Amino acid sequence: MTVNESDPLKAPLSVLRGVGPKLLGRLNELGLSQVEDVLYHFPLRYQDRTRVTPIGSLQDGVEAVVRGSVRLASIVPGRRPTLVAKIEDSTGLLTLRFFHFRRAQAQQMKPGTPITLFGQARRSGTGLDMVHPEYRLDTTDAGLEQALTPIYPTVEGLGQGLWRKLTEQALTILSQNDPEDMLEGVAESPFALSEAIRYLHRPPPDAPVSQIRAWQHPAQLRLALEELVAHHLSLQTLRAREKACHATAISGNGTIAQGFLQSLPFEPTRAQERVIGEITQDMGQPSPMLRLIQGDVGSGKTFVAAMACIRAIESGQQVALMAPTELLAEQHLQTFRQWLAPWNIGIAWLSGKVKGRARDAVLREISEGAVALVIGTHALFQEGVEFASLALVIVDEQHRFGVHQRLALTEKAPGEALPHQLVLTATPIPRTLSMIAYADLDCSVIDELPPGRTPIQTTLIDSHRRDEVIQRVGAACAGGRQAYWVCTLIEASDKLDAQAAEATAALLREQLPALSIGLIHGRLSGAEKESVMAAFKSGAVQLLVATTVIEVGVDVPNASLMIIENPERLGLAQLHQLRGRVGRGAIASHCLLLYQTPLSQQGRERLEVMRRSNDGFYIAEQDLRFRGPGELLGTRQTGLTSFRVAQLPEHDSLLDDVVTTAERLLKDHPLRCALLIERWTGERQAFARV
Ligand code: ADP
Ligand code: MG
Repeated sequence: MTVNESDPLKAPLSVLRGVGPKLLGRLNELGLSQVEDVLYHFPLRYQDRTRVTPIGSLQDGVEAVVRGSVRLASIVPGRRPTLVAKIEDSTGLLTLRFFHFRRAQAQQMKPGTPITLFGQARRSGTGLDMVHPEYRLDTTDAGLEQALTPIYPTVEGLGQGLWRKLTEQALTILSQNDPEDMLEGVAESPFALSEAIRYLHRPPPDAPVSQIRAWQHPAQLRLALEELVAHHLSLQTLRAREKACHATAISGNGTIAQGFLQSLPFEPTRAQERVIGEITQDMGQPSPMLRLIQGDVGSGKTFVAAMACIRAIESGQQVALMAPTELLAEQHLQTFRQWLAPWNIGIAWLSGKVKGRARDAVLREISEGAVALVIGTHALFQEGVEFASLALVIVDEQHRFGVHQRLALTEKAPGEALPHQLVLTATPIPRTLSMIAYADLDCSVIDELPPGRTPIQTTLIDSHRRDEVIQRVGAACAGGRQAYWVCTLIEASDKLDAQAAEATAALLREQLPALSIGLIHGRLSGAEKESVMAAFKSGAVQLLVATTVIEVGVDVPNASLMIIENPERLGLAQLHQLRGRVGRGAIASHCLLLYQTPLSQQGRERLEVMRRSNDGFYIAEQDLRFRGPGELLGTRQTGLTSFRVAQLPEHDSLLDDVVTTAERLLKDHPLRCALLIERWTGERQAFARV
């Protein structure tokens, strides 16, 4: 990558006025180090302070400037006194509410006083409200702006004024140093790169507000396209480099596979067979398989993974199977031990909790090739783990890991060869997003559930009826059913989660003394978790109180009832995962979502999606609509933070252009690709080792 030392856009941020060592440190923490980075720090949204909106035309949830006069203002007494003022203009009446105020404020708001205010209007039962608007007691034009006001994403201590000053200076430098326009001659746009950047930071006075709000302005589309192309290219490049590596072609000889299939109590579904066929085809090649298996919860991905695993083992190769939680990894360990028992295959276990001499012994077995299969957590790709002949890496619940973690594991193969890679995910990524997030992988879909499953019935219940629910659970368990009771907290901390679950378990034990109630959370030791899960599997425990540690992968087919407390706090994809712990057997299953009131309009809509649908793809799409891609992909782990300009699903319609533009760039301007990737993905590229 060429870095032009003399390019002022690449100069360190300390060249900007007002950026001293302390601020520089904070900006660096946010990932901004060059002048150019400030230019790519785009406003999150815009405020329209350019014009006055008549009260009668205020829209729910929209910020606006209002001018009128005070009709009356008074302090409503109570535990928390509130200043309430009624403002009128010729078109209507608006209520202002202040929970923090000075007495003088109330006194100044005499009836008839002119007032100009800016805030977000909310429709309430009685009419229109604004809570804590900015205001001034005059109706001059002084408060009106010429253009839309950009609002930048920021962190505590760095105000909007600072971002405006920084971007102002960076824009000046930009105007004297036009950067290379990588899309020139490749994609059509009325905006050149630098014009588009300027437009987004400083929309002109006549900018079409509603188009900008909908993310559909040509300047936004221009930059979003470039950004998505960069991400797509970054993964495509990674893929091309991996595919160019050598891998051990694995054909398998069927010696284990045949007996294994006969030993199973079920027949593979057609979808499973098709996907296994695709994997077999891939693994037979001397270049690495890069395959993602998407399958809804309960579609039987573990069996598909086992078939791939067996094929490699038959060929005398080693396999690593990595899961995101210890609980799930342990469950895989048990499943594979049981499935592979007749063939005397060496299986090793490695998690962060395996330490000291035990760890040394496991590492030796792995490096000497004494074990064919290694199952574990993140610990698998840490320092010191060396394989004798690793030829297949399987990553379960891939969305919990990042690209870089998968790559770290592939480095474990000896010599020049790369292992084949199979990643499994139950969080179905809508097609649009997967084109960006998983452009480096071939994708197979298990689009069929094993036969005999009855869809889970989901019911929404107000938490005021908790006692009633407890009695229903008691009766169901007494009647032979097994149930999960899931406790959730906003701030997921192992400690607080565990405390909440403990308290709930104590309460349930008190109210349902006849039941055998188990408890599982992240603070238990591996052995403790294992024994609780074993007791639940065997039916000795009837009701299992759990934190979200059971979210992924846990498979107890006899459990048919799940209660989720505070479901409104979780994402839909996560709720779907959790709910997928039931409905795995032939028994009709139920899920009760015990929500807290009051529930916002959007909160209710989201839970309604859960009630109406059992389709992971549909639910993921809705989740994307409600919360954006970062949440769905588990932003922190994937490194794919929310985009800087691009919005999904708003920019879905760009995705075909993304693919063709990327193809054209690769073909006609290969040198631009690296620069584009660096410009937009920065650090992510550092992860691309191969
Ligand atoms: P997931 O895709 O969510 O990881 P699992 O692999 O845990 O699902 O499978 C869910 C359950 O379905 C397991 O108990 C598994 O043994 C069972 N199963 C898998 N494939 C089939 C099949 N073809 N027929 C019946 N049951 C199956
Ligand atoms: Mg699974």
